[in-house]
Amino acid sequence: MIPDRFEYHAPRSIEDAIALLKTHGDEAKLLAGGHSLLPLMKLRFASVSHLVDIGRIEGLSSIRKVDGAISIGAMTTHCELAESEFLRDAQPLLPKAAIRIADVQVRNRGTIGGSLAHADPASDLVPVLLALEAELVIRGPAGERRVAAGEFIESMFTSVLEDDEILVEIRVPVAPANSRCTYEKVPHPASHLPIVGVAAQVELSPAGECSAARLALTGLASVPYRASAAEALLRGQALSEKTIAAAAARVTDGIEPLSDSFAPDDYHLHLARVHTARALAALAGD
Ligand SMILES: Cc1cc2nc3c(=O)[nH]c(=O)nc-3n(C[C@H](O)[C@H](O)[C@H](O)COP(=O)(O)OP(=O)(O)OC[C@H]3O[C@@H](n4cnc5c(N)ncnc54)[C@H](O)[C@@H]3O)c2cc1C
Repeated sequence: MIPDRFEYHAPRSIEDAIALLKTHGDEAKLLAGGHSLLPLMKLRFASVSHLVDIGRIEGLSSIRKVDGAISIGAMTTHCELAESEFLRDAQPLLPKAAIRIADVQVRNRGTIGGSLAHADPASDLVPVLLALEAELVIRGPAGERRVAAGEFIESMFTSVLEDDEILVEIRVPVAPANSRCTYEKVPHPASHLPIVGVAAQVELSPAGECSAARLALTGLASVPYRASAAEALLRGQALSEKTIAAAAARVTDGIEPLSDSFAPDDYHLHLARVHTARALAALAGD
């Protein structure tokens, strides 16, 4: 439980952090909340020679409105998301999912940027950001680039981030006035990581039909994903029992489910359908 020796750096600016990453290449790793990286280092699954702590850089931890969208700094903690009055009003899906993450210790340290960069197949925030079509702002030696949340994670535990890049900001749209959202989760009894998590947002017309439907799932496949077939089925329909059942049946279309000692693949698929139906029923009844 003792990590390999490493050198600790605490830069005060994004530029200094990027310079450190550039100098040390794949021997360096950023440290955010440390709740995924430090256990890996202690178990010696990850060996890091230079740890670059971005916790002392000002301006990376904020939730505010910028150009009509919501801007969230990458170092914003799960706890800050869960407790934000502004988000509860402007984009309630984020606090609804953040409050379901693990326990208060993990929520106090873990960050939204770390959750994304870690690219865990079972993360509570990634499906939310997929459903909300978030845009991620990345800084590196060549400047800034923006990546859609749907293009950020390449495969299990691998994102598009280069060794010398930092995820600095997440931008999400303000929830439309006619929208409803919910986050349904089956937590692993030990870690609380989602065995299955369902992020759902619908926009309802005055007649009660879905003018838009966004569904994203986590815990089920090697990468959290949007359930496009189920979304298409919901569009233009009222959230009746029949429509909900039909959409829930399609939520795992094209998915190769994960299997582990706790949840075999058919159980994962079953949970995904049941909890999608529950999420949609909750939105119908809101
Ligand atoms: C006991 C336990 C239970 C947990 N339960 C849940 C749960 O129920 N749901 C859930 O979603 N998560 C859960 N987690 C994971 C937790 O949310 C982590 O906090 C999160 O996955 C990583 O965030 P972090 O800030 O701790 O990142 P760190 O551990 O510091 O970093 C993770 C990785 O991301 C990189 N990184 C971090 N920030 C950036 C950045 N801004 N730019 C580029 N790269 C970056 C790091 O270099 C590292 O490779 C749990 C963790 C623990 C220990």
